[in-house]
Amino acid sequence: MSDSPSDCALVWFRDDLRLDDHPALAASARRGAVLPLFILEEEAPGESALGGASRWWLHRSLSALAERLNELGAPLLFKRGRAEEIVPTLAREIGVAAVYWNRRYQPWGVAVDKRIKSALKDAGVHAESFNGALLYEPWEVKTKQGGAYGVFTPFWKAECALGDPPQPTPAPKSLPSLAPAARPAGEALEDLGLSPSGPDWGAKLSRYWTPGEAGAQARLDAFLDGPVADYPSRRDRPAADGTSRLSPHIHFGEASPRRIWWNALEAARADGGAKMEEGVWAFLREIGWRDFNHNLLFHNPQMPYANYQRKFDAFPWREDEAGYRAWTRGLTGYPLVDAGMRELWETGYMHNRVRMLVASFLVKDLLIPWTKGEAWFRDTLVDADLANNVGNWQWAAGCGADAAPYFRIFNPVTQGEKFDPDGDYVRRWVPELKGLPKKVIHAPWTADARTLAAAGVELGRTYPRPIVDHKQARQAALAAYEEVKGAA
Ligand code: FAD
Repeated sequence: MSDSPSDCALVWFRDDLRLDDHPALAASARRGAVLPLFILEEEAPGESALGGASRWWLHRSLSALAERLNELGAPLLFKRGRAEEIVPTLAREIGVAAVYWNRRYQPWGVAVDKRIKSALKDAGVHAESFNGALLYEPWEVKTKQGGAYGVFTPFWKAECALGDPPQPTPAPKSLPSLAPAARPAGEALEDLGLSPSGPDWGAKLSRYWTPGEAGAQARLDAFLDGPVADYPSRRDRPAADGTSRLSPHIHFGEASPRRIWWNALEAARADGGAKMEEGVWAFLREIGWRDFNHNLLFHNPQMPYANYQRKFDAFPWREDEAGYRAWTRGLTGYPLVDAGMRELWETGYMHNRVRMLVASFLVKDLLIPWTKGEAWFRDTLVDADLANNVGNWQWAAGCGADAAPYFRIFNPVTQGEKFDPDGDYVRRWVPELKGLPKKVIHAPWTADARTLAAAGVELGRTYPRPIVDHKQARQAALAAYEEVKGAA
């Protein structure tokens, strides 16, 4: 415990809500007393603002972090407002010697951090930032010409060629901290307004998730303790629990990618089998996709609102409020699309295979701009992440980097038959169809009257008829694409 702030450092927590493998915290603890800080940055612009599901998660994750920091003797200071004012003011008022943080990569955050760093340096305060969020940072994975990658496969090859990322550092066992009298006043977590004051839509999320570092670690351990070996064969089956479901934990920084990397390799080594090895690498490749999307956003800061391929700027999108509403509510009449949208509303999560389908449906069957889908996901996903969300929406819309070719338009019926062959995923999330046999569950309008009656399904009453005819919608999408195809 220290009475003197001059040997103390501020550690500014942002999207790195953990103690394990936290380079900024480790650097600060090496130096002397630690004052952990979290700021609810209310000036974040629309694309970086927190959605409803994220607010729910953040509150709980902060609560878990604060508890652990308390145990270590360094209570977390909460502030809300403009970080650009708060950080330098706090540093000056308390007279700390240094401020440490782990870097972020979204355009707004990068700009804020740059200005804060220079203000601190001007004030004679040591300011230092670290990589706590990626395997390698966007400027480290470079093409032979020194540029940035726009295609995943060569990016991943180049990233792997850099070798294993540095070993993670374990969580500190104790933290030197400021004496209580020297600590500045902050806000209570409850007063940050992260929990809704009205009906608590998020309350049901706690049935599915345990935000916080311990929850993240438990999920990682459970996944690496077996299921990862079956990842290649089960990851595309939305009815199976075949993926890690680590995405919200990773987004909030409750588990570091480098910790995941090393623990996964250790699991492969301990098992020694080829199947496990293959599973671990298929899984790590997805962590590579996350790095790739952060790399794209960092080098293309306009991506949250502008097409990566500018020829799509002239794309004839449609205004279709009714279609958008049906999509958000899971009432499109296409069972696999509806199941995905309802899983999202109920759990704050959707399986990746179904995310790709619902995105294709919005953009290509309904011709609604990808930005509207991205905004809905941003508000409802517990793993909403600017780089991953924008990168994947642009990918699905065909206008992104390394995007799916526009003319590959997912068919919601055949996707269902292929990836949910028994219809279990649809039955779970669209219970009004649960009595239908698997032969027709992905296309109830093809069922005969007797089958529908036996299942208690009345199309147009208990479950909608398709809001568009997929065949016609596909033709319309291809015609719309013809209008921009040749543009530069
Ligand atoms: P796993 O399959 O276990 O993968 C492990 C980790 O790798 C994930 O937790 C995630 O961090 C990363 N990852 C997996 N797939 C991708 C991918 N395609 N792109 C980038 N990283 C990936 N993921 C988000 O984290 N936040 C988002 O906002 C988001 N929006 C998406 C929007 C659309 C339209 C689509 C098609 C995908 C989106 N994804 C997003 C990517 C992907 O769907 C999720 O990361 C994945 O479903 C999370 O489940 P999991 O943790 O079980 O993944």
